[in-house]
Amino acid sequence: MLKLKETITDELNKLFELETEDSSTIEAVFYRGNTLCVSSQIGCPVRCSFCASGMYGLIRNLKFEEIINEYEVLPYKENITNITFAGIGEPLLNWDNVERAFWYFKEKGLKVSFYTTGFPTRNFEKMLNLPHNGITLSLHAVFEEKRKKLIPHSETIEKILSIFEKHIKPLSKRKKKLYSIAYLLISGENDTKEELDKLAEIAKRLEVSISLLKYNEIEGINYKTTTDEEYETAFLYLKSKGIKITLSNKYRTRKIGGCGTLMVNRIKKLI
Ligand code: SF4
Repeated sequence: MLKLKETITDELNKLFELETEDSSTIEAVFYRGNTLCVSSQIGCPVRCSFCASGMYGLIRNLKFEEIINEYEVLPYKENITNITFAGIGEPLLNWDNVERAFWYFKEKGLKVSFYTTGFPTRNFEKMLNLPHNGITLSLHAVFEEKRKKLIPHSETIEKILSIFEKHIKPLSKRKKKLYSIAYLLISGENDTKEELDKLAEIAKRLEVSISLLKYNEIEGINYKTTTDEEYETAFLYLKSKGIKITLSNKYRTRKIGGCGTLMVNRIKKLI
């Protein structure tokens, strides 16, 4: 069972620190006035080199009861209509518990969506076949070497994309809208013209939109966010290629609860 330990609020997001019985804390975020972003693991074994959640690797998987507790222990839930698995952890690496939690939330009438790196692919296929409300594939790099640097524990890009493509291609135009690719733009890392060209080619091949995310800088991690000008230039360049593209919304570029900023044991680290 989880205990709500602390709530940190800014003018847009509410970050909940939740303590497990074995004294770790994980985090969930309420944003956009209706969505709760939940964690699936304590730490993350994928260890993306840009992310605070995976900085220290995996402590353990969250149990089913703990995942649903991230929602259940909140004192006010009436505004929550959507759950997104986009917090700490890779949902596919704790699949049995995440899938059970998915059905639990669905039965409560909540809409459930996922962010995933697509690995392990056997679970990615299972996730795609759920009656979900959205799956975003966190790609972040279009060439193998770079993706290995940014996302060290994954499958090849081509294997993940071919599974995604096989699932999406036969769907109606309306259903295709449930799928997208996230690309976290990091200054000087994955923002060359060649990389953006390849990204546009992938989006066209899969017939999905791109969610172009702005990097939130994290203490202790040596990547730089793009300037507003660089970010806009990349956006306009991709747009000129005729693909559908969205930008990071204001909720996801915050120090409190922004993408990649959630942490295990935040309070202990501050003490
Ligand atoms: S971005 Fe997601 S998959 Fe990567 S380390 Fe962070 S929590 Fe894990």
